[in-house]
Amino acid sequence: MIHNLRPRHIRTRLTLWHIFVLASVLAVTWSFTAFFLFLQLREQLTHYAVQEIENVEGLLYFNAGGKLDLREDYHKHPDSKRLLDRLLEIRSPEGSVLYRNERLGSRSLGGNPLPDEGEDQFSPRSTRLDDGTPVRMVSRRWPLDGRPLVIRLAFSEEPIRARIEELALASAFVLPIALILAGLGGYLLTQRALGPLQEMARRADRITSERLNERLPNDEVGDELGQLARVFNHLLARLEQSFEQLRRFTSDASHELRTPLASLRSVGEVALQKDGCREEYRDAIGSMLEEVKRLTTLIDSLLTISRADAGCIQLHPTIFRVMDLARQAAGFFEVLAEEKGQHITIDGSEGVSMKGDRVFLMQALVNIIDNAVKYSPAGGTIHVRVYSEQAGTIRLEVGDSGPGIAPEHVDRIFNRFYRVDNSRSRQAGGTGLGLAIAQWAVRVHGGDIELLSTPGSGCTFRISLPAPITSASF
Ligand code: ADP
Repeated sequence: MIHNLRPRHIRTRLTLWHIFVLASVLAVTWSFTAFFLFLQLREQLTHYAVQEIENVEGLLYFNAGGKLDLREDYHKHPDSKRLLDRLLEIRSPEGSVLYRNERLGSRSLGGNPLPDEGEDQFSPRSTRLDDGTPVRMVSRRWPLDGRPLVIRLAFSEEPIRARIEELALASAFVLPIALILAGLGGYLLTQRALGPLQEMARRADRITSERLNERLPNDEVGDELGQLARVFNHLLARLEQSFEQLRRFTSDASHELRTPLASLRSVGEVALQKDGCREEYRDAIGSMLEEVKRLTTLIDSLLTISRADAGCIQLHPTIFRVMDLARQAAGFFEVLAEEKGQHITIDGSEGVSMKGDRVFLMQALVNIIDNAVKYSPAGGTIHVRVYSEQAGTIRLEVGDSGPGIAPEHVDRIFNRFYRVDNSRSRQAGGTGLGLAIAQWAVRVHGGDIELLSTPGSGCTFRISLPAPITSASF
């Protein structure tokens, strides 16, 4: 229920809070001011009462009948109003009333004297008369003709209370007007401040996956809303980039799949059309199987890439010697290299070990050596080198004696489906994904891969991996 009462708009909530805080501050300020004003005015009354007691002391006398009386002459006195208003009662210390002035009449002023009331000094106190009138009273003990008296003089507190009430009444009129004006000002201010936010919400509403190039407005403003817009725009830019990458990947992948499929179909169709002998059918099936193999490799690579993108590849790190990894990877190409008359050499530090997922690092190295064998001419040499650097980095280098890669391709060589020479790569069975997978496998281990290429004199791919484990810690 309470939840339903909560205003929907931030600007209404802010305005209400603003009014509430302002009203509280004003109420507290006003209460303190009224309280201190009251104390100050009451102190003034006390001061007058003390003055009056001193006057009264000089005017008291016992008349012929032994009764206490006062020589009063209001009209000659400059402060006659104060004289008229004062309430005067004189008692014996035992409590019997000896004198009450006309204004006080029969009302008692403070009851029986307290034991040390007015002793040595003036004792001020606030009390009420029998009829409830609040008064400020001052007492003083004073001997007259050897008889001790308790003189009590008081002024009504009603006028000062009335003053405070008038002030309260005036504030009761002014306060709501002040609050309405403050609320109105606050509402307009918040509406103005939140205006850009509404504009941002409207624009964000229009953004869909097809319109990711839209950006939120006001991102050049230096305030918090500007910062919010900037953060959202950066997010949109990253999303747009990812969507674009995904779109490109999907269309490149379909394109890549189409080529071997088309080739499969045409080989099949040609074989079916002619009435060939058994040998010709065997050839056709052989080349169809070749295409199927290519398709399988491509689909495996696509699967690895998409699983890596989705972050669902689990690494299983183990500790192993990097030289063993290099030997095993090179071993896969021994027969192929021999067929091409190529020579693979492996050298480096035997003691270099590392912790990582052997399968994926092997995949990275195999992809690179595969390229080196593929693109090096017959009779060429492929060097695999393993060493560690003092800065705590393991280096794995694969150099070949192929054509190298021209500088303009170096930046894009690790991009998916990027090939320097399309037809040559396809002919050699390349998918255009080998280096992208190798780069992912190295990066997921906190390392990096770079190409040191000198066109015309072969390529050197260098894998750098962090934190080697020396043979001592094995
Ligand atoms: P592919 O499967 O086509 O080899 P890669 O991602 O492994 O795909 O390599 C991308 C492209 O980089 C290759 O098509 C080729 O043009 C070029 N390339 C890679 N390695 C070498 C190399 N050792 N020598 C020359 N060119 C290379």
